[in-house]
Amino acid sequence: MRYDVVVIGAGAAGLSAGALLAAEGKRVVVLDRSPHLGGRAMAVRDEGFTVNLGGHLIEDPGSGLTKVFEHAGKELVHGEVSNDMPIWDNAAGWTSIRDRYTDRTELKKVIKALVQTPYERLDEWDDRSLREWIHQHTDDQGVVDLFEFISVLECMTDNWYDHSASDNLYVRKMHFEERNTAAYSCWPGQGWDGMWRDLADSITANGGELRLGTNVERVVISGGEVKGVAIGREPRVLPNEFFEEEVLEAPAVISTLPVWTVLNVVPRQQLPEWYASQIEFLAQDKFRIAWLGLHLATAEPVTRFDPRELSTWTSTPSTDCSGFMFDQSAMDPTCSPPGTHLHVMGAIIPGAKGRDRQWCRETMLAFERDIETMWPAMAKPLWRRRHLVFEPSFGVIQMPGLVGRYRPHWRAPNVEGLWFASETFRSRGIGTDRAARAALTCVEDYLGRRIPTFGDGWRY
Ligand SMILES: Cc1cc2nc3c(=O)[nH]c(=O)nc-3n(C[C@H](O)[C@H](O)[C@H](O)COP(=O)(O)OP(=O)(O)OC[C@H]3O[C@@H](n4cnc5c(N)ncnc54)[C@H](O)[C@@H]3O)c2cc1C
Repeated sequence: MRYDVVVIGAGAAGLSAGALLAAEGKRVVVLDRSPHLGGRAMAVRDEGFTVNLGGHLIEDPGSGLTKVFEHAGKELVHGEVSNDMPIWDNAAGWTSIRDRYTDRTELKKVIKALVQTPYERLDEWDDRSLREWIHQHTDDQGVVDLFEFISVLECMTDNWYDHSASDNLYVRKMHFEERNTAAYSCWPGQGWDGMWRDLADSITANGGELRLGTNVERVVISGGEVKGVAIGREPRVLPNEFFEEEVLEAPAVISTLPVWTVLNVVPRQQLPEWYASQIEFLAQDKFRIAWLGLHLATAEPVTRFDPRELSTWTSTPSTDCSGFMFDQSAMDPTCSPPGTHLHVMGAIIPGAKGRDRQWCRETMLAFERDIETMWPAMAKPLWRRRHLVFEPSFGVIQMPGLVGRYRPHWRAPNVEGLWFASETFRSRGIGTDRAARAALTCVEDYLGRRIPTFGDGWRY
């Protein structure tokens, strides 16, 4: 069997690429080594609770992942999320972000300046901080706080000089223009698992193939051209079985593997040294977005202003970790047994600490004690799951000098027919929406034309 395109990975990027290509009439196969759909954004049930490996909220105001669904003949249902944002301060306790920007004229001035700046001009800010950009337009601390708290929530960056101007401003501009709000997010109405099933159904309905539990051993490249991919025999009998491969032939391969694993399947020696080094540079532990995660269920909700609010902080009483918390049951009551509220929260840690399990254990215990101070009702949870977000990580940290043109391009520089559709490569946006936009960029590059459903705006 010869395919037009092989897509490696059935996460947000792979399913988006597969659904777009199948809708465009291409013979496509999407392969994933995991038995689950969704990759880093997969959802599974655990003792009656739905826990998501990644996927908390979708940050697409409408022009990205939502349009992928539309083009695939499906609908991404946008559930409601509140604009309220309680902020924890170790001295003052809980306050609202609304108390911080009382003078909205300054905010309006900054929004106007951002909306009037074309996206391409924001590329010039790849190596500078968000605060530096804001200070061109206002010195109002409330406006600075609003933008920076959103950066903590979206990009998990901590210090003011670590919030990248360009990546943050791309998203703010998109949210203001498409939804008239500083930060738009939604819970997928069909649930995270339902969302990935919808895209998978669209692939097969349009004649594409999906093969889960299929490990890609390597991308086959010869004479500077892609020839297909080699997949391993499944199931392996000896765990170290080697070179028992089947080759799926195709002149084009879209890899959605992130920088941490992509060189396991794309032979390093086939890429220019500078390009492979760019991938390895970004793959360093210190650039991973990592956190200590907790799922805690209680009988009563603990939210302050609105059940669907997203709370945030820049430090907890005994840790320097910033973080977030929301009530997942308020977004989707089917996520937990009747009469319970499943709260999702995380304490963001430096990526370099992810392998220091002793430090992680101690910090997790301190964080759990702090949670009791911040929400006394969480002291005796009905149910708990702890997790470490490191492998896989949320993404590559979006700091100045690590975004935009500082990331490897989505097209292999020297291999005909090889694309990298990953939010860890050159891309803009947040999480799954960013992955879907990266997929769209690669699919259009492969097709050699733009897909009209998406208009003529920016892509990557
Ligand atoms: C804890 C956490 C919370 C997050 N919260 C959010 C959020 O609230 N909102 C949001 O939008 N995003 C969130 N994200 C980020 C989001 O999950 C990712 O950005 C997105 O899922 C990346 O999708 P992807 O398709 O690019 O990559 P992946 O999901 O990593 O997909 C790559 C796929 O490739 C497969 N694969 C790997 N190697 C092979 C191989 N050799 N052969 C075959 N298949 C292979 C993997 O199994 C995987 O399915 C979160 C992530 C984490 C970890």
